Amino acid sequence: MLSKSDFKPQKWQTLTIEETVTTLKGNISAGLTHAEAMNRQHLFGPNRLTEEKHESFWQEFLEELREPLILMLIGTGILYALWGELSDAITIFVVILTLNTIEVVNEQRAKKAISSLHKMAEPTSAVLRDGHTQETPAEQVVIGDVVQLEAGRRIPADARLIEAYGLAADESSLTGESVPVDKNADATLNSDVPLAEQSNMVFAGTLVTRGRGTAIVVGIGMFTELGRVAGLTRQVKQPRTPLQKAMDELSRWMVWLAIGFSVIVPILGYFVAKQPLKTMVLTGLSLAFATIPEEMPIIITMVMGLGAYRLSQKKAIVRKLKAVETLGVVTVIATDKTGTLTENRMEVSTWFPEDHQERIAEIGVLCNDASLNGGEYAGDPVDTALLRAASQAGIDPAALQSKSQLQNEFTFDNTRKRMSMIRKDGKEFLVAVKGAPEAILSLCTQRWASKGEEAFTSQSQEAILKQAEQMAAQGLRVLAFAEKKTTSAPMSQEQAEAELTFVGLAGLADPPRLEVRAAIQACQEAGIRTLMVTGDHPITAKSIAQQVGLNSGGEVLTGPELDQLSDEQLRETVTKVSIYARTTPEHKLRIVQALQENGERVAVTGDGTNDAPALVAGDIGVAMGESGSDVAREAGDIVLADDNFTTITNAIHEGRVLFENLKKGVRYYLTCKVALVSITLLPVLLKIPVPFAPVQIILMELFMDLAAAATFTVEPSEGDVMKLPPRNPKERFMNRAMVISIFTSAAGLFLAVSFVYLLTWYGGADPVTAQTVAFAAWLLGHVLLAFNMRSVRQPLYQVGFFSNRLMIVWGVVATLFILLAVYLKPLQTVLKTATLSGPQWVLILAAISVGTFWMEIYKMFAFRRKV
Ligand code: ADP
Ligand code: MG
Repeated sequence: MLSKSDFKPQKWQTLTIEETVTTLKGNISAGLTHAEAMNRQHLFGPNRLTEEKHESFWQEFLEELREPLILMLIGTGILYALWGELSDAITIFVVILTLNTIEVVNEQRAKKAISSLHKMAEPTSAVLRDGHTQETPAEQVVIGDVVQLEAGRRIPADARLIEAYGLAADESSLTGESVPVDKNADATLNSDVPLAEQSNMVFAGTLVTRGRGTAIVVGIGMFTELGRVAGLTRQVKQPRTPLQKAMDELSRWMVWLAIGFSVIVPILGYFVAKQPLKTMVLTGLSLAFATIPEEMPIIITMVMGLGAYRLSQKKAIVRKLKAVETLGVVTVIATDKTGTLTENRMEVSTWFPEDHQERIAEIGVLCNDASLNGGEYAGDPVDTALLRAASQAGIDPAALQSKSQLQNEFTFDNTRKRMSMIRKDGKEFLVAVKGAPEAILSLCTQRWASKGEEAFTSQSQEAILKQAEQMAAQGLRVLAFAEKKTTSAPMSQEQAEAELTFVGLAGLADPPRLEVRAAIQACQEAGIRTLMVTGDHPITAKSIAQQVGLNSGGEVLTGPELDQLSDEQLRETVTKVSIYARTTPEHKLRIVQALQENGERVAVTGDGTNDAPALVAGDIGVAMGESGSDVAREAGDIVLADDNFTTITNAIHEGRVLFENLKKGVRYYLTCKVALVSITLLPVLLKIPVPFAPVQIILMELFMDLAAAATFTVEPSEGDVMKLPPRNPKERFMNRAMVISIFTSAAGLFLAVSFVYLLTWYGGADPVTAQTVAFAAWLLGHVLLAFNMRSVRQPLYQVGFFSNRLMIVWGVVATLFILLAVYLKPLQTVLKTATLSGPQWVLILAAISVGTFWMEIYKMFAFRRKV
């Protein structure tokens, strides 16, 4: 066990590997034990540079209390206490506390959901512990951990290299130097060697650009070079999304509107309707409290935060909250093929020539990035498939690999479309190469034969390309294999990958995912086009496209063909062609940009390090969580935990529902406010008392906030959301249809409540009874209204009355509350209500039914017409 005094920061670059490992009490072959890792985590803390801020319930509660609105309400409570009865003041305080609690609970729920997203999207590292390689959250990496490095990975901590094969790191985040730095485990350096030249070290926050290696961690968190430069950073907050900003703005000017009415009503009440001054001041304050739309930004945050959380449960991890909004406007999905449309469970099914199978399999083992971990092969699916195929053919991959030593590796990337490894076998060096046939054959000058080597003519090259096409036509991914034996170690990539001997081809089957066909179909119905952009062979691409039902015209455009097109021509082409093959990440970027210039909103997938520009350029960047590189994941707006295309379509579905629910919640919220203002304004114009006592207004606000902020957010999806075209992002949230719907629905509630109030008042009832009638009519009416507003397009019986449980609960509570308020004596005094008679109830129910259910009838007819 390491103790705190054992560990002192050092000039690690001056130590040999053995010295480093001894100093750190590490273990190169098995890594730390779990217990020791826990001990070290305890000693040195988590490996992070960000400060975690936890606000307790109470802190937040008090913070919320300081908001001007709440202060105003507290002021109102005090005025009540002074002018009115103590019970009024107590009621007000109870409501304030309830409202405040609900608000804080809601906000905390949303925030918790959002911060748990952070956790899910957190980077991991391949760490060796207890003899196994485990994906460990970077935060849990400790001093002395043995970390495995490969191209595309972000380095989690400062570490001394133990092994490095062709390893290079992009250290620009630390040194500003954009050219990757070559690494070398065997060096020991002077203590004055600058950071940029410490070739035996790797540093936290930098990126492996190629090669592979292992390193032992010597510094974490604040004690890394990055920590020294960056210092402690506060956790980055999600920037406000366009919709949140729009809502902030909208509610800012609506505040003034609300305040305006809250002043006009009491002024008219006092001067025109000759109401008592105190009552009018209290009414004004209560009205202001009830109509100021302070909840609107909170509703948005809630819906988006919880929506993002729900998405993550469905394996689409939202990294940028803005993506939740954008999902609903997507018109094109530009997707990878391998792993996204297909299973990514590759299997070698064909060898060519068949009698070269053994040698091909050997090259596949000697030029391979996968590893054996816990009895299973792990890593790139192509590579694991090759290891499995080799062992089925009777080759022991581990034994074969250990016969030679790895010297250098030129990692696969989707621009070069090949990889090579240089191995030393005795005095000889072997270069083993594999990759796309087009990327290999042109490098070959000989051809392997069991008896020796033969000349490789251009005719036989042609013949092999033909053969590759035949294999591709069966939907196989085709790889070519080549080798070279030399006596001196090739230094550069060009040197290594030249004058090769062609050995053969292998065809790998990767079946399409079964559910993809239906998902593509569903997208089509939802007005979303699916494009395939793959690095694979055009014929393989076409074959898979056909199998998943994606072949509009069946035309395929390849990367080289795409290079011949001007931007103008490409814009034209992307409207017709849906399959793109042998593309590089640059091609993908151009395709995305061409689509966007045509006005499309593009969701684009990516996994490679160099896919980042396309992911950033897309309206939504979708990174692969399973097979993607760290860079791709960092660049993505959404990370697919399961790499599955269907998850994208599910996310789009969810995004659309979310947006609709947001609209529903806000629409309902504003409808209530408009109705409330008009209901109080009319009587003062008619020179009679306002229809609600101030306490009642405050309670009404409690109920409507609850409905808008909570019940609408869990509204289930309407059946037809994926049958409609994508939403136009230019369309404003508060569009004409929304405004009209707010005012017409508000008019219904207004007419119903005003009607019963005025009828009761002019019928000679006392003010308290008339107010009780209005209060009851409002509470029940706004419950019915909420149910009505659950769908814009479908009548309630189609939506399903019971499908939103939370709303049922809320409705029942509101109903019970009004019954108690009307019949319970003590509540009557507090709430200023009177007992109602049977006929009064009938009047109320009749009025509110008519006032709200006209919408149902309207929907029934409007809906019929559309169908
Ligand atoms: P995709 O877009 O389908 O993921 P890639 O760009 O990953 O395509 O791969 C393009 C081509 O590169 C493949 O058709 C295959 O021939 C070759 N290839 C893929 N993976 C490897 C690998 N691990 N090693 C060598 N070659 C590979
Ligand atoms: Mg790939």
